[in-house]
Amino acid sequence: MLVELSKVIFHEGYTMQQDTKLDLTEITVQGEQFPVLAADPVELTVTNSGDSVLLIQLQGKVSAVLPCARCLEDVKYDFPLSIERSVDMKLSAEEMEESEEEYNFIEKGHLNVDQLVANELLINWPIRVLCKKDCKGICSRCGANLNLGDCGCDREELDPRMAALKDIFSKFKEV
Ligand SMILES: [Zn+2]
Ligand SMILES: [Zn+2]
Repeated sequence: MLVELSKVIFHEGYTMQQDTKLDLTEITVQGEQFPVLAADPVELTVTNSGDSVLLIQLQGKVSAVLPCARCLEDVKYDFPLSIERSVDMKLSAEEMEESEEEYNFIEKGHLNVDQLVANELLINWPIRVLCKKDCKGICSRCGANLNLGDCGCDREELDPRMAALKDIFSKFKEV
């Protein structure tokens, strides 16, 4: 959602506060898309702290759906949001682009709240998630989810030579 900033930009000392609904429904992380659940509005406060500097504060919570690192089942991962950014609105679009700070959430006098939140998710993106601490993962042979019960496969890691021997033995058995 885009929030118009002109009123707060032109009134020094002015504070704008509003609950804002996010439109963010997915996020791309390293070329992969993940669903984002953002049902609850976030609390946005923008203050003109003088000299055209805006203090942007955002509080709230969103969740993303990630696959469990072991069994690949969906896991809901919560991101508590507590964002605080200071933006000098005297900077030109070029200056913002060239800056080391990320200002991609400012668009022609508007605040792109979804972009602001997306940046935060990317910074805090977990390296891996598990559906539960003791997730048993999937069977390396048949792909069954072992949390739902054992599939009965023999998953002992076999030396390839041993595997060949085992094949020979089973052939003898058939005779
Ligand atoms: Zn799992
Ligand atoms: Zn199996």
